[in-house]
Amino acid sequence: MPGINKKRMSQEKGSDLSDLGEFGLIEHLAGNVVIHHSETIKGIGDDAAVIAASDLQTVVTTDLLLEGIHFDLTYTPLRHLGYKAVVVNLSDIYAMNATPKQITVSIGLSSKFSLQAIDELYEGINAACEHYNVDLVGGDTTTSLTGLTICITAIGTCSPEKVVYRNGAKPNQLICVTGDLGAAYMGLQLLEREKLVFAGNPNIQPDLSGFDYLLQRQLKPEARKEIIEFLNQLNVIPTSMIDVSDGLSSELMHLCKQSGTGCRIYEDKIPLDPTTISLGDEMNFNPLMAALNGGEDYELLFTISLSDYEKFQGDYPHTIYMIGHMTDAEKGCALITNAGQEIKLTSQGWANFKPA
Ligand code: ADP
Ligand code: MG
Repeated sequence: MPGINKKRMSQEKGSDLSDLGEFGLIEHLAGNVVIHHSETIKGIGDDAAVIAASDLQTVVTTDLLLEGIHFDLTYTPLRHLGYKAVVVNLSDIYAMNATPKQITVSIGLSSKFSLQAIDELYEGINAACEHYNVDLVGGDTTTSLTGLTICITAIGTCSPEKVVYRNGAKPNQLICVTGDLGAAYMGLQLLEREKLVFAGNPNIQPDLSGFDYLLQRQLKPEARKEIIEFLNQLNVIPTSMIDVSDGLSSELMHLCKQSGTGCRIYEDKIPLDPTTISLGDEMNFNPLMAALNGGEDYELLFTISLSDYEKFQGDYPHTIYMIGHMTDAEKGCALITNAGQEIKLTSQGWANFKPA
């Protein structure tokens, strides 16, 4: 896993983008694109992409990422950034129970970026397209005065009866979450800590050993494609679903608010990776807070009806945890701690985490 290095901090010098020009750059980028879907009639190269319509519904989502706000190039390799920028969009498509098919990628570039830097970014973008079987069909390229901007739009499809919204949960239904939570947030704390150490003394090598998993969760997350496929195999359509980009607490509150329910989740059921716990110990930070109020986990949070519960019995290769249940709205949203205390969930960060 990469750490911080001086070369990255000053952006590597390479071929000047102005020699190539916008059209030359687009042509160069288009040369590496592979089309996977027959519905993609026209990709890069015309005024607009053309996608064949079908009986399925179309699902569209966009994310805008700004340097200095959403990513820090002092410790984020461009290849990872390109990969992650695609993944965060696909995660939103999966959270609708849909299949992503195409993306567009728009970039704003300042003069500090070389052709090699853009190639690295697109290596990550293309790797994600390959891994998730999506087609890069267009975008826009422009100059920027303030560093790098990446805007990705993802387009997917879903049969009408399978689309899952945030508003379908009912009281008593079970709340499920995939994977583990809080690791990406702890990875970010680690990178920020080492960045400060590095700023103080550039001769000190960052100490990131033993925390590869946390760095991977922060720098190169994955979207839960296989969970959507697995739910489909089980014949389970969640009653509501959202991807966990802002922490479990606020995502659960979105489901509850839109569904008109309350909820109870249980501290001992919340999945935490052992490295999240050990870095939490080292940094004196409660890993439960990272899970509730961290972010960027890109796991799926969903509810299922009680009649689907038995479909989750037995062995299966995926990590799906039942962490609680929906209630009537009047009961509000709360976590039951291991000591049996009821704590009201908030979506405003851990400082506001007060007993009910
Ligand atoms: P226009 O002038 O109509 O905006 P462009 O010259 O910007 O056209 O784009 C030409 C083609 O290249 C279009 O298919 C567009 O979608 C594609 N394209 C432009 N920039 C990018 C990019 N950064 N990544 C992928 N495709 C791009
Ligand atoms: Mg354009």
